[in-house]
Amino acid sequence: MINIDSYDEENIFSKILKKQIPSEKIFEGKTVYAFKDINPQAPTHILVVPKGKYCSLEDFLEKADDYEILELIKSIKIIVKSLDIKNGYRLITNVGVDGGQEVPHLHFHILAGKKIGRLTSP
Ligand code: 5GP
Repeated sequence: MINIDSYDEENIFSKILKKQIPSEKIFEGKTVYAFKDINPQAPTHILVVPKGKYCSLEDFLEKADDYEILELIKSIKIIVKSLDIKNGYRLITNVGVDGGQEVPHLHFHILAGKKIGRLTSP
């Protein structure tokens, strides 16, 4: 079961941020990194993560400073614009077990390029 109570230094996104494993970079800011999802659920599937060690959105909103929060949110628009997404997109962050979170480092999914469909599965 996923643990989002304390940060796991060995999680896959931590390794991506440390360049221990490769990723396809889409955007990088001072405190934000964005890359392609390895298992895309739509023609465009980007993951946007803070560079800081935050397990989830809860953790981030509790501990991050205003610059990190602002840069993460503003990076969404920069990425959407840079990818020329014109027909809309879905922005998702999963939190914890019930939220379906698999990687215990905060990330936003940007899904676009097709009609994404229902908000939740039955
Ligand atoms: P979650 O279910 O935690 O919200 O989403 C985790 C996402 O991370 C999934 O969409 C999954 O495909 C993606 N992912 C897992 N491992 C890797 C990896 O090694 N590289 C990349 N680029 N994405 C990954």
